[in-house]
Amino acid sequence: MPVASISNALTIDVEDYFQVSAFAPHIARSEWNTRECRVERNINCVLQMLADHDTKATFFTLGWIAERYPELVRLIVAQGHELASHGYGHERVTDQSEEAFFTDIHLAKIILEDLSGMAVQGYRAPSFSIGSANLWAFDCLARAGYRYSSSVYPIRHDHYGMPDSPRFAYEVRPGLIEIPITTLRVLKRNLPSSGGGYFRLLPYVVSRWMLGRVNASDRESGVFYFHPWEIDTEQPRIAGISSKTRFRHYLNIDRMEGRLNRLLSDFDWGRMDQVFLDKLTLSDAAA
Ligand SMILES: [Zn+2]
Repeated sequence: MPVASISNALTIDVEDYFQVSAFAPHIARSEWNTRECRVERNINCVLQMLADHDTKATFFTLGWIAERYPELVRLIVAQGHELASHGYGHERVTDQSEEAFFTDIHLAKIILEDLSGMAVQGYRAPSFSIGSANLWAFDCLARAGYRYSSSVYPIRHDHYGMPDSPRFAYEVRPGLIEIPITTLRVLKRNLPSSGGGYFRLLPYVVSRWMLGRVNASDRESGVFYFHPWEIDTEQPRIAGISSKTRFRHYLNIDRMEGRLNRLLSDFDWGRMDQVFLDKLTLSDAAA
């Protein structure tokens, strides 16, 4: 059951269903403009859910989405949530050069700050694609003026993961904190315990138990994430995808809203900056 004194960070990766990395081989970037957009409707549902629970969250938003839905960005901020960056065009860091990556994260930060009038401090890489092969990404994030990243998943997975990296927040560069996606340590393995497809796959009580263990045993705050398309049972189905991709994308979407409502009731939630940044002291170099 919840540990009363520990808040967890609730995060939403603001992108549309046709932008997920697993669909990239099937939907060209140039087609994005021709697809039916569902993100505005879905984010409005998320905002209502958060208001019902009197909960604030962090929205890692794509620059591509923000440009097309400026009112949505302003609404997120007006309702007291934290606006953060998911980069501009949802390209995995592993598919970009250092220079292209810097351009992407810098552009997204400028767009989001211009629209909101607020400083954007946080960044999350598409598909948690910062790992041992591209640690230069942290140098880029520090140079672009970000204060924290939530881009590393310390697990083994076919698309991402850095299983030997720290499980909890640490200063990865002077002035830049990495806040990894939450795992539970069981029998020398890190189990994914923070949302996405695993949350839809596992029975809710298992997810609740895992996050509860992180709070009670590790005495640490968790990071939970989901996408607006994960609550959208009416999103257009993408044809021609593999059975594995179909399973991962559509599994239990009809149960997601109910599970999120339970999760919001069962734990104490807040924004990334409030849950983590206020607790940590940055090095003198960045002070
Ligand atoms: Zn994403």
